[in-house]
Amino acid sequence: MSDAIMNTYGRPEIAFKQGEGAWLTDESGKRYLDALAGIGVISLGHANPRIAEVISQQATQLLHTSNLYRIPAQEKLAELLTSISGMDNAFFGNSGAEANECAIKISRLHGKQNGIDNPTIIVTDASFHGRTLATLTATGSRKVQAGFEPLVNGFVRAPFNDVGAIRSIAKNNSSIVAVMIEPIQGEGGINVPDENYLKEIRALCDEHEWFLLLDEVQTGNARTGSYFNYQQSGILPDLVTTAKGLGNGMPIGVCLARGKAAKVFKPGNHGSTFGGNPLACCVAAAVVEYIQENKIAERATEVGNRIMDGLRERLSGLNNVVDIRGKGLMIGVQLDSPCTDLVAKAMDKGLLINVATDNTIRLLPPLIISDEEADQIVGIISGLVEEI
Ligand SMILES: *Cc1c(COP(=O)(O)O)cnc(C)c1O
Repeated sequence: MSDAIMNTYGRPEIAFKQGEGAWLTDESGKRYLDALAGIGVISLGHANPRIAEVISQQATQLLHTSNLYRIPAQEKLAELLTSISGMDNAFFGNSGAEANECAIKISRLHGKQNGIDNPTIIVTDASFHGRTLATLTATGSRKVQAGFEPLVNGFVRAPFNDVGAIRSIAKNNSSIVAVMIEPIQGEGGINVPDENYLKEIRALCDEHEWFLLLDEVQTGNARTGSYFNYQQSGILPDLVTTAKGLGNGMPIGVCLARGKAAKVFKPGNHGSTFGGNPLACCVAAAVVEYIQENKIAERATEVGNRIMDGLRERLSGLNNVVDIRGKGLMIGVQLDSPCTDLVAKAMDKGLLINVATDNTIRLLPPLIISDEEADQIVGIISGLVEEI
């Protein structure tokens, strides 16, 4: 590792030089099946030809003009996303954290406009919302926050998957303006809440006139079997953010707003130099169309179930396996002890995985993987867990 890079990631001495579909080739020519997809980013596969064509075509035409002018590609992407999501309008940034900052700012400004001096947002344990100061404050992990105090004011925390806890916060705090949650927690260990969780929180938000702010940075863009995860709960949020899979590697994030939340910002309240530029928006629009035209969400459910069924068949008898859970192609295998060493062991066997919260193998493969590739993932993971 070059000393010219800041010391923020502990990473192995490996670099990739080429990708194709669900496969990566490193500098020595070794091939790896990518069951992480750049942390849920490369949903349509590495070097996807359709996406490559859009990037190169747009690069010869126009990259950036700033948000001081209309950007037709941004308008097209906003229309695609609002029509899929049932939301009203969009603000584009360059990352998940920025999308969340936008949603937090809308929630606060709405509170202020309604006479709440200290607008406060309810967030949950084990959540992850990003690395900016506001989003790391919203994140439910001391590891992410430690050393960066003073944190940002205006957040209170409840356990995840516990509507009662949120209800009791409501009794003692009249400054709440929003509840911010991931419909399935990613970094927190692939935590899938009870079936009625979102519905009950939606009802609570309606009762108290709070915004429901869903962080779908990781769960969005067909990852869990529908374009957004909340669509499986039959509710609509007031604000939803997404990023990771939206650009298939092109940095882009979006905050979508609905109803009152869509009317909060006025010119001057928020902005971004790069956000929503013609290149990023053209690529993301191609990603969204690809997902819709090729029924990628349905495929994520099908192949995700194949992987989870396969893992359960191979691993359910082992007493070091605590749980196999997930939705679509967001899958966690929780073991009874720390297993971060499995990342290197899997790499030796030509498989890229990740471990969340020290004891949960996290799989976020490209949504376009074949049945055979899915079976290879199951085979290698099962072998590794059996060896422990
Ligand atoms: C990755 C992630 C973020 C942060 O996204 P960045 O693009 O790294 O800023 C926020 N929320 C969730 C749920 C995430 O998974």
